[in-house]
Amino acid sequence: MELLNKSLRELHRLIKKKEVKPSEVLRELLNRIDETEDKLNAYITVSREKAEKKAKLADEELVKLSEDEVPELFGIPLSIKDNINVENVRMTCGSKILKDFVSPYDATVIKRLRGKGAIFVGKNNLDEFAMGSSTETSFFGPTRNPWDLERVPGGSSGGSAASVSARSAIASLGSDTGGSIRQPASFCGVVGLKPTYGRVSRYGLTAFASSLDQIGPITKSVEDAAYLLNVIAGQDSKDATSAKVPVPNFLEALNGEVKGLKAGLPREYFVEGVEPEVKEAVLNAVKELEKLGVEVVEVSLPNTKYAVETYYIIAPAEASSNLGRFDGVRYTYRAKDYKDLIDMYKKTRAEGFGDEVKRRIMIGTYTLSAGYYDAYYLKAQKVRTLIYQGFQSVFKEVDFLITPVSPETAFKIGEKSSDPIKMYLSDIFTIAVNLAGLPAISVPCGFDSKGLPIGLQVIGKAFDEETVLKVADAVEKSLSLSLIPSV
Ligand code: GLN
Repeated sequence: MELLNKSLRELHRLIKKKEVKPSEVLRELLNRIDETEDKLNAYITVSREKAEKKAKLADEELVKLSEDEVPELFGIPLSIKDNINVENVRMTCGSKILKDFVSPYDATVIKRLRGKGAIFVGKNNLDEFAMGSSTETSFFGPTRNPWDLERVPGGSSGGSAASVSARSAIASLGSDTGGSIRQPASFCGVVGLKPTYGRVSRYGLTAFASSLDQIGPITKSVEDAAYLLNVIAGQDSKDATSAKVPVPNFLEALNGEVKGLKAGLPREYFVEGVEPEVKEAVLNAVKELEKLGVEVVEVSLPNTKYAVETYYIIAPAEASSNLGRFDGVRYTYRAKDYKDLIDMYKKTRAEGFGDEVKRRIMIGTYTLSAGYYDAYYLKAQKVRTLIYQGFQSVFKEVDFLITPVSPETAFKIGEKSSDPIKMYLSDIFTIAVNLAGLPAISVPCGFDSKGLPIGLQVIGKAFDEETVLKVADAVEKSLSLSLIPSV
């Protein structure tokens, strides 16, 4: 497993120095996938032959390249959440309705990674259409947490987080609409970064809630997250919401210079209901930052209490519209017996979607319907603005915010699956960030008494991923936790 523990930068160095061949890295990775998949179920598809072919080609090409001609992801195998299109590879979104769908094109992020020489080894398990916080709603069965196989890895990017944690992935991309990168990263003891809305192109990401969705890295370290963000960030003519802002070299932000920065601890994120061990671990990391010269003040985000309700109006509304395209005419699944066109639509969707997805479509269709639009959807949009303004005003005072990622550590499989409200509440600390479009990272900050990892969230100003990464890197280095599960 030696190569699989290495950072992206180190793997790149070994490859360009020709000390390691791409096919050797891939072989180690495929062995590790074989060793762990029975337990974890972190992959829906492993593109074994395709990846082997690519790695062999990379071996041959490497011989012809001089050291400085080798691109930064050359021959490095990555795994991708199964709601992002990778050309000619099956993309299921964890749903029966897309179980045989093969992507006709690469998402922009994939194109960019491919342009730097990355190889794609497989597609990671997720909650159906990224709707969930536990990866239990996947049609392909739940993913298990490598720290405790009875527990969930979080969600919806649970397969990405579990595989990076278990070293059955070197690094992965997830998507985050309300916490889906950060919460599984915190449950699995890895790093997850949700970039600012507009920082990374969404072209080729299957839309869940288009005004909230962002793609981001799930990695073993903050450095790896910065390494991948350098490649995937930037404006894209294929996504009108991708922003025309300069892309800095995010690795340069990891310089340890946190002295003089001002951190805010929002009172509303340290309330009753947060497990004491979670609070303790987060505050302990804050102390470490203080030792490094960070000034810490308490701030207030009073509209936090409306975040979950607001999200569960806006996200389902957008989902109900986005998922209209899965109708049995386009894409793959179609019901067998039907009387007419309308009957075909109905049966295809009734058979193809799981319960959680249907629940969201029904809520969303209701809140958008004539007569209810003003009372629900419009009102939620107004509250969203208030939440955004709340962040704006605290960011006049501080450079970044620190909160727990989740009020608790990984819960048991089945513990919340019959109670949607309980499940929705597990995103209470991650959702407001999406509503406000801000960047935020989850970085490990300790363990609870059951030995389960705890995540700390750093929230930054829009397009200030540099501060977010810099602070998370300082936390990671000052705590230097040992984060490899024994699965
Ligand atoms: N858990 C949240 C939901 O179920 C967020 C999911 C996500 O970020 N994709 O909607």
